[in-house]
Amino acid sequence: MTDCLFCRMVAGEIAPDTVYEDDQLLAFRDINPQAPCHILIIPKQHIASLNDLVSDDQLVLGKMVLLAQRLAAQEGLAEAGYRTVFNCNEEGGQEVFHLHLHLLAGRQMSWPPG
Ligand code: 5GP
Ligand code: ZN
Repeated sequence: MTDCLFCRMVAGEIAPDTVYEDDQLLAFRDINPQAPCHILIIPKQHIASLNDLVSDDQLVLGKMVLLAQRLAAQEGLAEAGYRTVFNCNEEGGQEVFHLHLHLLAGRQMSWPPG
């Protein structure tokens, strides 16, 4: 989708601070980090939100979660702990409508989230 910010990153039109890339996934540092480590993991395929996932997306979704695990370890923050978040639609706080998994780490998280 040409009007989607994250699709434009996948297409190479915008260069994020990439930490991982393969044929299906891209991971990059959030431009407005909410923790010392704040990485966004996205599927290269355009999926607007969690509401748009279908059963064929199970594999890529699993890969996103496993990549979060791997990147937390790579950042040296796995043992201390981290948070993974999918925001969905307005009340979920979603602002970019291309599915992304937030990986937040490097500080004490609070609960409940705001
Ligand atoms: P959402 O609120 O949709 O769950 O999260 C969108 C995230 O994308 C936000 O944390 C925001 O800071 C991040 N973001 C928005 N625009 C850009 C950008 O141009 N580059 C990067 N790296 N992150 C962005
Ligand atoms: Zn997109």
